[in-house]
Amino acid sequence: MRPLVIAIDGPAGAGKSTIAKALATALGIEYLDTGAMYRGVTYEVLRRGLEATDVDAVARVARDVRFEQTANSLHVNGDDATAAIRTPAVDAAVSHVAANSAVRSELRERQRQWIAERGGGVVEGRDIGSVVFPDATLKVYLMASPRVRAQRRVAQHGGDVDEIARAITERDERDSTRDDSPLRQMPDAVVVDTSERSIDAVVAHIRELIVARTELS
Ligand code: C5P
Repeated sequence: MRPLVIAIDGPAGAGKSTIAKALATALGIEYLDTGAMYRGVTYEVLRRGLEATDVDAVARVARDVRFEQTANSLHVNGDDATAAIRTPAVDAAVSHVAANSAVRSELRERQRQWIAERGGGVVEGRDIGSVVFPDATLKVYLMASPRVRAQRRVAQHGGDVDEIARAITERDERDSTRDDSPLRQMPDAVVVDTSERSIDAVVAHIRELIVARTELS
């Protein structure tokens, strides 16, 4: 049997983490936040005083870094970096780190290994349905209006809504235009707009799609 892999992709603030976590709980399977991995590499790069654009140095960090990751925490080389990977400094640098092909190939292998060890899971990111698991059971592309996405970030982490909206737009632009594994909406992904729908409604909708998919195969 093919592993049950649910790929959740989309831009920043579309609700990926919230939905992916709730979905994994409902299905009784594990959840992997691949954005936290890119953030973890970025955290270690900044901690060492390296430039996010220093391709070779950043690649070395990605190859050597040790993660212990759960649904709600990330330890980087033994340090609890759960809060530190969500700072504006990491927000601003992460899409440069994520454009590094050596970083992507290292993390991609770790993500495939994670699924191989568990036999399935809910995986969220930017390139999950397009590159990491092109044969996923179901691909969901979550989106929401730019205003709603900025407001969600402010509700979670505080800050000025216009400034956050600008930072999100810049990051989306870099994530969508990079050469290696850009964020894109796959033709076989189901697009779900979360702007006006509750978490429960979105999760219920995705569960119905999974049932329909697995009954067909
Ligand atoms: O999902 P989150 O906003 O935490 O992701 C942080 C950054 O990590 C993204 O802006 C993107 O640059 C990078 N990322 C990626 N590929 C993934 C997941 C995240 O390039 N699969």
